[in-house]
Amino acid sequence: MLRQEVPMPDSLSALEADRSKLLEEFLGLGDLRPGSITAVVRRCGKPTCHCAKANDPGHDPQFRLTRRVAGKTVTESFPHPATLRKAQKEVAEFRRFQKLSAELVTLNERICARRPVEQERGGWTEAEKKRLRLSIRKWGGNRGKSWGAGK
Ligand SMILES: [Zn+2]
Repeated sequence: MLRQEVPMPDSLSALEADRSKLLEEFLGLGDLRPGSITAVVRRCGKPTCHCAKANDPGHDPQFRLTRRVAGKTVTESFPHPATLRKAQKEVAEFRRFQKLSAELVTLNERICARRPVEQERGGWTEAEKKRLRLSIRKWGGNRGKSWGAGK
């Protein structure tokens, strides 16, 4: 079996370097916000207008941004093209943020899988145990949930 002597693309240090680069990309993100922008064909409702005909494209489309807030859809419309263009940029930036976040999680999962257990400190030190006992007593003993880092 042939062994690769060059640094493996999957090595922990290579993955960590990728992660650093990725984190730097987060710093380059501009204003961002969630939502999706859709164009809605506008029909004025006057029966004599051309837009009342079946195959008419209607008036200038209206652009809307919709997003979910606490389970409800919130709609925003844009009074002029400049506000639409601004929103388009912000929404596009949010997509970029989501993509970067997904990459960051995937990368971290691979790092976690490769991180050897030996690098972690085994068990609690005496000082930590003492501090833990004191904190638990202070919290009334039953609120172990606050120690999410445990296990
Ligand atoms: Zn019309």
